Amino acid sequence: MRLLLIEDEPDLLTGLARALRKQGYAVDVASDGGEGLHKALDAEYDAIILDVMLPVLDGWQVLEQLRKTRTTPVLMLTARDGSRDRIRGLDGGADDYLVKPFDTGELLARLRAIIRRSAQKPAAELVLGEVCLHTAARTVSRGGVPVTLTAREYVLLEYLALHRGEVVTRTQLYDHLFDENESTLSNILDVHVFNLRRKLGQELIVTRRGHGYCIE
Ligand code: CA
Repeated sequence: MRLLLIEDEPDLLTGLARALRKQGYAVDVASDGGEGLHKALDAEYDAIILDVMLPVLDGWQVLEQLRKTRTTPVLMLTARDGSRDRIRGLDGGADDYLVKPFDTGELLARLRAIIRRSAQKPAAELVLGEVCLHTAARTVSRGGVPVTLTAREYVLLEYLALHRGEVVTRTQLYDHLFDENESTLSNILDVHVFNLRRKLGQELIVTRRGHGYCIE
């Protein structure tokens, strides 16, 4: 999952980006609304975390411009606890909001929820035959037995599971699993897929030659 974090407080930006990367998310960052909007329109993000009080363009303006062409899930961060702000955010097309200061665990849970909703898969558990993804705990089991995955293996599996039945192209995977600063060596994906098959069964992820991967 690739996220865009738009936040002008350097400490919060750095700390939150680190916490999100630790969960296996690919994270791009922007420290003002102008840069944020530019990036939001330039790439396909799975979700955007958007601060309200920002230089250049504020969060409301970014959201308004974004919603003209994009349905990317948006979680807004507001410093103010007024219900008027929350109503404005939700009416403006935000998918959820959090009032600062917030608990990182709550942010992660809300993020997972808006990503699942946007994939039309609101259940917290994704069942793929004998394999089950527990998205809240970010753990996987096979036949009821826990299987240890790396953070990257988990996000790759989750992305394919959320797009179950669709062929996901390699380009799509590179766009959604790696951030703007990562080098994308062409064999990395193959290694992750190889490891997932080894851990979860050869038949789980199907290769569609010349197209990409699919969980049927
Ligand atoms: Ca701010």
